[in-house]
Parts: sequence; structure tokens; C-alpha cells
Amino acid sequence: MIFDNRGTFALIDIDNYLQNLEYINKKTNTKIMPVLKADAYGHGSKVLAKHALKEGYERFAVAFLDEAVELIKNGIKKPILVFNYFNPEMMKYIDDYSEYIIPTISSLEFLEKILYYSGKNIQKFKFHLNYNTGINRIGLNDYEIDEILRKIKEKNIKIEGIYSHFATADEDDEFIIEQFKEFKNFENYLNSKHINFSIRHISNSAASLFHPEMSLDFVRPGIATYGLQPSSKKQFKELKPVMTLISTISKINNVKKGDTIGYGRTYKTNKDINTAIIPIGYADGIFRNLSNKTFINIKGKKCEIIGNISMDQMVVNLNDLNAKTGDKVIIFGEYPTANEHAEKANTINYEITSKITKRIKRIYKKGGKYIE
Ligand SMILES: *Cc1c(COP(=O)(O)O)cnc(C)c1O
Repeated sequence: MIFDNRGTFALIDIDNYLQNLEYINKKTNTKIMPVLKADAYGHGSKVLAKHALKEGYERFAVAFLDEAVELIKNGIKKPILVFNYFNPEMMKYIDDYSEYIIPTISSLEFLEKILYYSGKNIQKFKFHLNYNTGINRIGLNDYEIDEILRKIKEKNIKIEGIYSHFATADEDDEFIIEQFKEFKNFENYLNSKHINFSIRHISNSAASLFHPEMSLDFVRPGIATYGLQPSSKKQFKELKPVMTLISTISKINNVKKGDTIGYGRTYKTNKDINTAIIPIGYADGIFRNLSNKTFINIKGKKCEIIGNISMDQMVVNLNDLNAKTGDKVIIFGEYPTANEHAEKANTINYEITSKITKRIKRIYKKGGKYIE
């Protein structure tokens, strides 16, 4: 029995997650560094990391320092790359985790500050360099590289790896190839400067699947590991959605022709209809701009969301469907997919799952059993 107080939860299928990892692993023929930032895009990083670890995945990546610390505190005692900026003063407090936390060096100022705050302890840490090959975000630019390399040599800082990030892996092949070449040049440059490192990585999900030849020593897939398509260019049928967002019919209404539904009266019935009230709303992370735009799945049938989505509830048209209070419904999962909601909400599937709020309980399933 699962403790499900409101009949609404995100069911997380661990088997699908592991199968997606395995699929990417086979396709790229290299090692995988599963990306678990943003609580694994809303899926729950601690549990997924634990199961990936059991399957032999031994290195992970997150965006922020506290995301890494949380994993380590929960038993993920493996290298965890931190992609993004963090307050350099934090170096004073993370000594104990120096074996696992791998900060990214992203600027000279950042490097100088972490040196200042960690003092001698800097020797305990390993770092990765993120090199800008064209996305122009946090990666290092050519004009700052030499200063940074000088500092690295002077302070004998350990560079374990180098990486870069693609801007258009999901769409434009030419720019990827250009970025890949830039990265190779950077690698050669570091070699010529006698900077030692052992790990190179550049591919996100889309690059892993569309350009397995660029996989290098590791790939860093996120979205595809969650069974969501990384691109509209092509569907990879092997990817199985990990999250199914489930709710329950809280009430059925018979609504008369000409009546309106919800706040603002944005939907008016043109005949007598039956509606189902679903106890989930925008405070759970359902995009309010999906009001009157998309559908959910009840007993395999499409039921349109009608009227404005409210904070805790929404209304769907049952058409001729025979349903009753207490019946389970699927907001998204295999059908409709998070992608379908994303398109209607004018966004990408990443935003659909990662914005499901803490109010939604994550329930994990593996081998047909509910766990945790
Ligand atoms: C988020 C992120 C990834 C994963 O991207 P997906 O498109 O989800 O596969 C990889 N690398 C970096 C640097 C990222 O920020």
C-alpha cells in the first residue's frame, strides 16, 4: 500500500530509468555521467542516483554545489561534477567531500577566490575546465585561458577533466561539428602546454543519440535518461518515460448547455456535458497556460482541460466517457507525453517535469513493486 493522501502523485519508474541509461550506453559505447541537476529534472535525484549506482554508474553531474552535497550525504560517495557557479566561500565547508565534489573552473576570479578560501586544502580537490566552444555561457574563453593555466601550474591544481557544451545538439549539425573541432583544438592546446587531464566530455542527450561518434570518454545525458525526447527531429522509441503524473477524479459534474467553467468563465459549454474535477493545479506545477489547450488521459481516452486551471484543481470534459469519483487519471506520462504538454504550453519537455513542485509526492516503482 502506498501512502497517497490526495490521490495525486508522480510515479517514477526506476526500471525505465535504468533501461534508458543502458540504451544510451549501448548507443554511445562510452561511459555515462547521468545528469541529476534540478532534483533529476523533478524525478528525485537521491533515489535515481542510488539505483544508477547499483547498476554500476560511478560518476554523476549536477548544476549546483548543494545538489552534490545532498547526494553525497545520502550515500552517493562517487565523483559528482558541479557544472555551475557557487559561492567560492563554500570551499571552507566542503573539505570533507573533496574526494567527491568536482568543481568546474569557469573564470580566473572564481579560481582565485576558491584558492583563497580553501588554502592548502585546494590540493585535495580535482577540477574540470569548461571551455566555451560557442554557447557563450559559463565556459572559459580563449582570452582568459592562459592566465588560468598559469595559475593552475603555479598552484599545482589538479585538472581531472575538460568539457564543453553544445548549443544546438537538438537541431543544427553544422554548428555541433564546429564546436567539436574547437574542443579538439583546446585539447591539443592543453597538451602542448603540458596540462594533464584524463577525462574529456561534451555530449548532452541529443548529441549522444545523434552523434555517438562525439562521445569521447563520457557523455552527460539528462533529458533522455528520463525517457523524454531530446529533439523533435526524430523520435527514439527506445526511450521510456520515467515519470507518470497521476491524479484522481474528485467529483463528476453534469453541466448544462450555456454554463461556464472556472475562474474568468473562459469556457462555455455548447451542450450538456459531464465534467470531471481533478485535484491538481498550477501550484503543483501544471502550466496555467495549458488552460483550454490540451488534454489528460482517463481510461485511455483523451479528456480536454476546459476552463482556467486553478491553483489546486482543474476541470476536464468527459464527453461520453463512463467515469466515477476515485478513478485514476494520467496527466502525462506515456500518453499524453510531457512533450505534448510542452508544445501546447509553448515550452520544452524539460520544463514540464522539472516544474512539478514539492507538493507532489514522488512514488518509486521497481520490478513491479513500490519502493521507498
Ligand atoms: C543540463 C546539462 C546537460 C544535460 O543536458 P540534456 O539536454 O538534458 O541531456 C549536460 N551538460 C551540461 C553542462 C548541462 O548543463
